[in-house]
Amino acid sequence: MKITDIGEFNLIKRIHKRLTVNTRSVILGIGDDTAIVRPQPGRLQLFTTDMMVEGIHFNVHWSKPDQIGWKALAINISDIAAMGGRPLYAVVSIGLPQDTDVKTVDAIISGIRKIARKYNVAVVGGDTVSSDHIVINVAMWGDVKRGYVLKRSNARVGDLLAVTGTYGDSAAGLELFQHKSPIIRSRYPKLIRKHCMPVPRVEEAGIIGRGKLASSMIDSSDGLALSVKFICEASRVGARIYSDRIPLSSSLKRAVSKGVLNDPLNLALYGGEDFELVFTVPKRKENIFKKIAKNINTQITVIGEIVPFNKGFSVVSMEGEIKTIKPRGYEHFRGR
Ligand code: ADP
Ligand code: MG
Repeated sequence: MKITDIGEFNLIKRIHKRLTVNTRSVILGIGDDTAIVRPQPGRLQLFTTDMMVEGIHFNVHWSKPDQIGWKALAINISDIAAMGGRPLYAVVSIGLPQDTDVKTVDAIISGIRKIARKYNVAVVGGDTVSSDHIVINVAMWGDVKRGYVLKRSNARVGDLLAVTGTYGDSAAGLELFQHKSPIIRSRYPKLIRKHCMPVPRVEEAGIIGRGKLASSMIDSSDGLALSVKFICEASRVGARIYSDRIPLSSSLKRAVSKGVLNDPLNLALYGGEDFELVFTVPKRKENIFKKIAKNINTQITVIGEIVPFNKGFSVVSMEGEIKTIKPRGYEHFRGR
């Protein structure tokens, strides 16, 4: 069955049925001209949006429809988390080609539902239109307790530079899709999964935020190098990263040792979409930070430090060679 067989309004009914939630702060969800929500006093409201376009952000031959739905929400949740906030509500606008199967839409919605439930996000509205390609735009609200916002602009000289998780996995997954056979690809499910279904670091960001451990934070959507650069620019500081400290996953290391992929440092520094957290920790909080980091399930690694602005942004190699780097990553209208 194609979506043209059922039409826009039946499609919206289907979406409505699958996405209805019962959240106390939602006074009115899907179904009217707008949603109505009740903000919690004492908290600042966070707003963000991110769009995913077929052929640019995903490829329907690589990612399954439910993974596309999952990722559309995940990347927005990641932004809210990176501000130290909690995600609350989303509106989801979907563009679909006429010949799309209803099954495909159901799968997209089931991916959205799965992640929304996991992180207590209420989908309170959206829009459904026809389009040449599949497009999903999510706008998301979140909130954060006053005094607990984590911006990019507050890093200070001497702060430790820390990250969650491992780097380069999503870019490695993309490379496996682009250049490797399905058989080789099937040997690296974690890299594929990281690319298709990233997990936003909500719990980790919550612990960092509530513990007031960080002076600044960002999620690494455009790659590690650019994330650090954004913190540096906003805070008017420089940074030094020790390349041997950048955490790499065992899957990525295995792919490199088998000759399937090369230059892991390049993937880690410049490959985007890991959706990990990059943050700075004041030196005086080092001990408490290390203690708390041990209790977080996700790997937390100190990869460098913040230095004065005039020292620039550099990567120190294992041999101790200091290389000033020009941060680059994915930039629309430029390509890589
Ligand atoms: P309007 O004409 O007021 O834009 P629509 O017919 O587009 O209303 O949508 C009807 C209701 O369904 C609205 O509450 C809208 O927010 C919701 N809705 C439409 N598309 C989606 C979607 N893709 N996801 C969630 N809610 C949706
Ligand atoms: Mg509409």
